[in-house]
Amino acid sequence: MTNALFVLHHSADTRATEFGTLASLAASLNSAGYTSGLFILDTTAASTVTVKAGGVFRKISAVSAGKPVGDGADYLVQAVRKASSDSSVIVALGTVSNRNWGPQVAAAQGAEFLTACETINAGRDGITATAPALGGLVVKTVDLGSKQAVLLYSGEALPAPAFADVEAAVSTDEASEGRVRFVASEALPDTGGIPLRGASKVVAGGLGVGSGDKWRIIEEFAGKVDAAVGASRAAVEMGWVPSSRQVGFSGQKVSPDVYVAIGISGAVHHLAGIGGAKKIVAINKDPDASIFKVSDVAIVGDYEHILAAAMRKL
Ligand SMILES: Cc1cc2nc3c(=O)[nH]c(=O)nc-3n(C[C@H](O)[C@H](O)[C@H](O)COP(=O)(O)OP(=O)(O)OC[C@H]3O[C@@H](n4cnc5c(N)ncnc54)[C@H](O)[C@@H]3O)c2cc1C
Repeated sequence: MTNALFVLHHSADTRATEFGTLASLAASLNSAGYTSGLFILDTTAASTVTVKAGGVFRKISAVSAGKPVGDGADYLVQAVRKASSDSSVIVALGTVSNRNWGPQVAAAQGAEFLTACETINAGRDGITATAPALGGLVVKTVDLGSKQAVLLYSGEALPAPAFADVEAAVSTDEASEGRVRFVASEALPDTGGIPLRGASKVVAGGLGVGSGDKWRIIEEFAGKVDAAVGASRAAVEMGWVPSSRQVGFSGQKVSPDVYVAIGISGAVHHLAGIGGAKKIVAINKDPDASIFKVSDVAIVGDYEHILAAAMRKL
């Protein structure tokens, strides 16, 4: 069985780079003899989905639950299991939603599960993937061979391969009552603006920003320099910024031309997300902050004064 199923949880926020990244991974698996399909879990209520570079997939199906399921992992587990019955490998992006159903599908199918994959490669002997281990201190390479596996990809955005876009019809797949029922959840909406994945400039804030009210300074500065907003996990956990903006080991990996870290100490878990940045500019009031060990430009001082001065010049 060498079928690979790519799963996309599709909402109004889904970006072309997400289609492109999955299509690129599919193209590389196809060249190693896999047959790739795409399964779209659609929550937009549209009747069709345009899949960028969709021609790379032999089969595309798109379903919507027909009734509200929130982030109902139980529904997603059922839907993905049904769609992946003839697939040895399931690949999805390392989003919060996918991290919800991914391990459950793997456990139900007795498959290997690997999250935060930085690379996924296929060869004659099957699949190898790399992912951070030991809290992001090392990168492990896992030889999965031809084992069944569920892989969540959190590496860099990949360019869409040169395949035609495909229009896929969305069918309704009535959610059956599961044993686990969705009750309620409240997700902070994304901040909007430039998406983090694939951004050429990122302005990221950490706990040193000080409060949710002051977070608007980070957004204002990012807006002035046309950068995507990023955040440390500590800032996300304070509820200042949605988790879709988290950079690091358990967030997104970014590889911009310039990464500006503001009030971020430089913990290994954060650094695990910015290894691909070409230039790092750090603003921190502590001259011994670890972030300065990896930064190209170090600015010691209170970020509010520094950004105010910078914005006066812009
Ligand atoms: C399994 C695991 C996964 C994790 N994944 C992630 C992840 O994906 N991403 C992530 O970021 N973290 C992650 N973490 C958490 C990580 O270890 C750190 O706790 C976190 O990155 C710290 O965030 P911070 O730098 O914003 O806060 P702090 O470490 O508290 O740093 C705040 C910094 O702000 C500076 N500062 C304070 N006031 C000012 C001011 N006025 N002007 C300028 N500077 C100021 C301080 O000097 C300090 O250096 C993970 C942890 C674990 C255990």
